[in-house]
Amino acid sequence: MNILVINCGSSSLKYQLIDSHSEKVIAKGLCERIGSEGACITHTPAGGEKKTDTVPMPDHNAAIQAVIAKLTDSSVGVITSLSQIGAVGHRIVHGGEKFNKAVLIDDEVISAIEEVSDLAPLHNPANLIGIRACMKLMPGVPMVAVFDTAFHQTMPKEAYLYALPLSYYRDYKIRRYGFHGTSHDYVSRRAAEILGKKREDLRIIVCHLGNGASVTAVDHGRSIDTTMGLTPLEGLIMGTRCGDIDPAIITFLMNKLHCSAEEVLNICNKKSGMLGLSGGISNDFRDLSKAAEQGNEDAETALQAYALRVGKYIGAYAAEMDGADVIVFTAGVGENDGPMRRRISNYTEFLGTSVDPEKNRIRGEEVILSAPGDKVVTMVVPTNEELAIARQTLEIVETKQNAV
Ligand code: AMP
Repeated sequence: MNILVINCGSSSLKYQLIDSHSEKVIAKGLCERIGSEGACITHTPAGGEKKTDTVPMPDHNAAIQAVIAKLTDSSVGVITSLSQIGAVGHRIVHGGEKFNKAVLIDDEVISAIEEVSDLAPLHNPANLIGIRACMKLMPGVPMVAVFDTAFHQTMPKEAYLYALPLSYYRDYKIRRYGFHGTSHDYVSRRAAEILGKKREDLRIIVCHLGNGASVTAVDHGRSIDTTMGLTPLEGLIMGTRCGDIDPAIITFLMNKLHCSAEEVLNICNKKSGMLGLSGGISNDFRDLSKAAEQGNEDAETALQAYALRVGKYIGAYAAEMDGADVIVFTAGVGENDGPMRRRISNYTEFLGTSVDPEKNRIRGEEVILSAPGDKVVTMVVPTNEELAIARQTLEIVETKQNAV
């Protein structure tokens, strides 16, 4: 079965068409600047050339139409008709407490996603637009919602409650939800597979280090704690997000800058993190490493602060799980930035792990970095959220078919 995986942002839409049998990507692409002048679609058929075209896309309906037109195009297309799409998997950022696994989308699910939209006002409405547009253009094709938060629903209360008056949790559902769940789930499973062990027998710490970043403690197959919170702003230092800060800084800055809480939060989300800490050099680790090598002290401090924060959480999660068996690095920085993995590993040697300098040069591949016999295995497992969404979509659709 061909599964179309859709990841809708407010003005963008990423897609992959995956053959669920071979698990190969048949085509992938990205629509950008949806709703603006100069909207474009970049489409790459497997084995073919990546090509960008300007296409008017006033809304997400038009974007989905453009995706379908590319997929069925006589020259760059990979299918002849829409009937060759067996199901659609949608990435949904926030499932609140309602969803602890992927679900087949119906009216009730749409209402439930709408209900938790105030928890992710930038993401869930865009995700819903994507669902509705696909339903309109592909009536009768099963649609599955896969939630970023679902994997973390196994966290115990002591990990997910904030030390605020309890009524705020009861009345407003203010709690830690965690994100990147599809990635943490996929990567921890794959790490166990590579090691020839059952995930249920391992204590795994997954470091998803991309532009957004989070660490999760996967204790015998279950997420028991994670660094992101009510929103993806908490935890690690990220590309442009500040991660953990003293909440009193918000009001302090409002007074100093004479601005609103929203404006300070905008600074925390878009102008902070590595970009802010480096004095504005970049949020990209390649630029920061280059600047640090050329002697820029701010870039060097930002890189070291980043490593310290990750190391601190690895230590905390090892304490929570009474030790650790595996530390896994994934996502853009985790998969590619050997020197950053080295910096982080300097904080984890006390656990009994090491990093082989030769193997640490490898980029974007599954590799075990530690020495045989190390107490804790350190490894790299490239994430593949689209494949994980396609797998979960297939499982739900097959379960439904078997039930009929
Ligand atoms: P992601 O959000 O997972 O796509 O990660 C994107 C980030 O990964 C970029 O902003 C870079 O900071 C980082 N990244 C990607 N490739 C490399 C590389 N070769 N070396 C260092 N960092 C990289």
